[in-house]
Amino acid sequence: MGFPSVEELAGWIGRADDEAVRALHARAYAVKAEVVGRRVSMRGLIEEGNVCAKDCLYCGIRKSNAKVARYRLSKDEIVACARFASESGYGSVVIQSGEIEGEAHTRFIEDVLHAIAPLHLGVTLSLGEQTEETYRRWRDAGATRYLLRIETSNPALYAALHPASCSFDRRVECLRALRRCGYQVGTGVMMGLPGQTLEDLARDIVFFRDIDADMIGMGPYIPHPDTPLAAEAAGWNAAAALALGLKMIAVTRLHLHDVNIAAATALQALAEDGRERGVMAGANVIMPNVTAVAHRRDYSLYANKPCCDETAALCRGCLDRRLAAVGEHLLYGKRGDSPHYHRRARDD
Ligand code: SAM
Ligand code: SF4
Repeated sequence: MGFPSVEELAGWIGRADDEAVRALHARAYAVKAEVVGRRVSMRGLIEEGNVCAKDCLYCGIRKSNAKVARYRLSKDEIVACARFASESGYGSVVIQSGEIEGEAHTRFIEDVLHAIAPLHLGVTLSLGEQTEETYRRWRDAGATRYLLRIETSNPALYAALHPASCSFDRRVECLRALRRCGYQVGTGVMMGLPGQTLEDLARDIVFFRDIDADMIGMGPYIPHPDTPLAAEAAGWNAAAALALGLKMIAVTRLHLHDVNIAAATALQALAEDGRERGVMAGANVIMPNVTAVAHRRDYSLYANKPCCDETAALCRGCLDRRLAAVGEHLLYGKRGDSPHYHRRARDD
């Protein structure tokens, strides 16, 4: 069976009848169970800082949001988060932050990577657009994966969501540079953006295929009241955003089989069991927050961020129970690399 057309993909993403959607989720879950098993990999999410040089119109920590109390974790604080993740049995961490370019930050991240190397964790970075040299230095310092969402594969919609200084072409070029540097490359989009069509979402899946992504981290768009885009999101509602997010996960799993797909935290912001439902629709990665509780509220990309007051230890117990209830188990002590990456590496 060949890859479906944009029209076919859009048809599935747009399905509204409950029975057809249930069947779609079930088919996607069967592919997930066959390819990666009934287990879920974890990455401890470390929110390194909310200082950002960019002004994406949808994001709560954009540089023009004067209401944000800015913070950056110290090296020791990041190492403590990584150690906690390791002691909790999470085989990997994700270090994420606003976008900061320049030598001082590049070197800071290198130092952090060297400091956490003895923990033998898989390390994903999600630190935005950087030069190829910076990506290479971080790869050499021990990072193995990089997540850079394209946000939308429609260049016109991308332009409407970002200031003119942001370039869609540069973002695509960054994804290519990451591949050249030898990372497992992750990308993704937001679903339910104002002005986004079902065909846009269908083309996003084609984009993931064409860029040969190893990991997909996508989540529903959730308006943040202190951002310009919130004014255009009048018709937004949580139930529709969740349903759309789950269908995108399912259709992506059905057609891209062996990529790692994260059940984004944004799903949990829309429903308490949002991440488990993401897994039942085909996701196989969850990213529990291991950042100190004191900073979590300051890293609010969207309204109603979940688990802001829950310690990481509590979070783990809660996840264990929730996933066991749906017949899945958390994979402790494993890095949980992308099967697609290993297949690609073998084929190269
Ligand atoms: N600054 C880096 C970047 O933009 O690639 C990494 C951190 S950024 C906060 C991570 C992701 O948050 C973005 O790629 C975007 O998709 C998501 N995000 C930002 N605002 C959001 C919103 N209002 N709703 C849902 N996701 C959002
Ligand atoms: Fe900054 Fe990333 Fe938010 Fe854009 S999405 S404003 S780059 S943190």
